[in-house]
Amino acid sequence: MADLLQRLNDLTPVIAIGSLALFMTLERWLPFFEHGSDRSRQRWHNLGMIAIAFLVNATLAGILVSPVVWADTNRFGLMYRLHVPLPVAMMTGVFLIDLCNYAQHVTMHSVPALWRIHRVHHADTALDASSGIRLHPFELVLLTVVLGGMMSLLGVPMGSLIVYNTIALPWFLLNHSNMKYPAWFERWGSLVMSTPNWHRVHHSSHQPETDSHYGCVLSIWDRLFGTAGKADVPRLRFGLDRFRGHDEQTLWRMLKMPFLPVVLLGVVAAASAQTPSIKDVAWLQGCWELREGDRLVEERWMPPRAGSMLGVGRTTRGNKLVEHEYIVLAERDGRLAYEAHPSGQAATTFMSHPVTGREVVFEDPTHDFPQRVGYKSTGPGQMLAWVEGTSNGKTRRIEFPYRLVNCVAP
Ligand SMILES: [Zn+2]
Repeated sequence: MADLLQRLNDLTPVIAIGSLALFMTLERWLPFFEHGSDRSRQRWHNLGMIAIAFLVNATLAGILVSPVVWADTNRFGLMYRLHVPLPVAMMTGVFLIDLCNYAQHVTMHSVPALWRIHRVHHADTALDASSGIRLHPFELVLLTVVLGGMMSLLGVPMGSLIVYNTIALPWFLLNHSNMKYPAWFERWGSLVMSTPNWHRVHHSSHQPETDSHYGCVLSIWDRLFGTAGKADVPRLRFGLDRFRGHDEQTLWRMLKMPFLPVVLLGVVAAASAQTPSIKDVAWLQGCWELREGDRLVEERWMPPRAGSMLGVGRTTRGNKLVEHEYIVLAERDGRLAYEAHPSGQAATTFMSHPVTGREVVFEDPTHDFPQRVGYKSTGPGQMLAWVEGTSNGKTRRIEFPYRLVNCVAP
């Protein structure tokens, strides 16, 4: 057993390079998406990033391995203390490593400073095997240090990591590869594994989809922790809108990407503050609902097009229609105008404050109530909407914690 593990460990670089070559060849024969002619140039930049990742990994291996080897030798860590038999500890360890990677992945999306690093992986505007391990070196350092700490504390044997790497490295290349896989593989495989179509949702540029399907090898964590959703995969648009410009994805730009906000955020924020685009609030699109007993509040937003988004809202109680609303959201006079047509009331236009991140507030100080309408994306498939203002001398705020739902009723 120890010999086999040692051999697998020695073969890790061969497995990684072999899988990369295999999937880069196969995806040319059975492509899922048609890529443009400039994709082959991008592949070289991605391969440059992967080469740096290999170098960093080789350098860091000692940092990861030494605490784990120390814990192994001294029988330190939870599973050793609980006297878990080695084969059980090995198997449990493989799952714990994937769970740790899942948790780290969610954290990378939630903490702005970490997202700056992780977005190097997400900025790729097309997906293929070369995107699979296109990670910024800082991300590898973080992943390695946290994983090493977790393994030592929980007493995960070194063998678990060797088995995990042997499965995970080819799997990352498989589930990023631009290949059409059989429907049965996607359907049944995604019940447990992060299959290509499952993972493609995670690379969508639509933020609620980006912040879902975090599973690295297994999809069960997304199912267990409620971060799974549905999407029309062939219509997905990959990448991040901020990094679509010419030469945004060169090797040098990718290495610099985590630092760009420091230099550019002020410029970008100032520009968007002056002239917000309807695309800044594209994250509103989709079908949202809030259920409270027999009261159902629904809001649906069409995608941005021609400088506008159209929304409809409806509140029902049981079988009774309580109120409904029609909203035109459009670019106007260098701002976004929120023209609300609520049932039984006159139309009102609220003008946007500067759009900050994934939050927008519209205001009409002359309106009776509300004077402000706000929307904020609060997590995967979650959005908080609110109306607020002063009514009869009192400040009121009504919140609508929406969740994203399938637009087609079951
Ligand atoms: Zn991610």
